[in-house]
Amino acid sequence: MELMNGWRMKYGVFTLAVFLFCLIPMAGSGAPQQDSYTVLLDPAHGGDDPGVTSDKLREKELTLNLALLVREEAQKIPGLQVKLTRSTDRTLSIAERVKAAGTMKADALLSLHVNAGFGKKASGYEVYFPGFRQSVPSGGDSSPIIKDMARNTSLNDSVRLAQRIQSALETVFPRKGRGLRDAPIPILDGLTIPGLVVEIGFATDPDDRKRLTAEQTQRAVARALVTGLRDYFRKAP
Ligand SMILES: [Zn+2]
Repeated sequence: MELMNGWRMKYGVFTLAVFLFCLIPMAGSGAPQQDSYTVLLDPAHGGDDPGVTSDKLREKELTLNLALLVREEAQKIPGLQVKLTRSTDRTLSIAERVKAAGTMKADALLSLHVNAGFGKKASGYEVYFPGFRQSVPSGGDSSPIIKDMARNTSLNDSVRLAQRIQSALETVFPRKGRGLRDAPIPILDGLTIPGLVVEIGFATDPDDRKRLTAEQTQRAVARALVTGLRDYFRKAP
């Protein structure tokens, strides 16, 4: 009897240990899914800096219109919050835009631009992710290896985000994609969140210009960007 009780007790303790172990979240199996995500949208240029201007199109106005529409469309998606670096026509430095990404604790950043040049026949949209060779100023306090790991993860995430955004934009501008490109992106320098620059079309191309200035197209682009963001976060690790 004495022996039996001892065995039962040990067995009980063992069962309890297994039970408690199962309650412990699986460490190292990737970050848990968040309930909500914050995207910082950056309508490029503004205030004293008009960006590209062509005919009636002004880049600073178009990027702001688009950003406001994206914020509006995002309200239909539960758990997706869109914040803006600027919601009015005001001058904002790159440093101020970068700082906003940090203070808002954004999970991703999209910078909206309008293209120009590359000859008069250039048209279509481009999606840029930060170049893998991009230098990040080292703070000197934390481990460079950890910084490197965080940066590589965010670069991989940027590519994944770029793919989602591209397939969403393809529905608005079929066969008008000029591909995913990598480039140094000053607004993302030093940040460890995924981010992209989207050049939504060419102000210098009459067709692009006509489409981009139409409210209907702007709304469709805004919806596409929201769809791309939603799809990206759905599959976030
Ligand atoms: Zn621009």
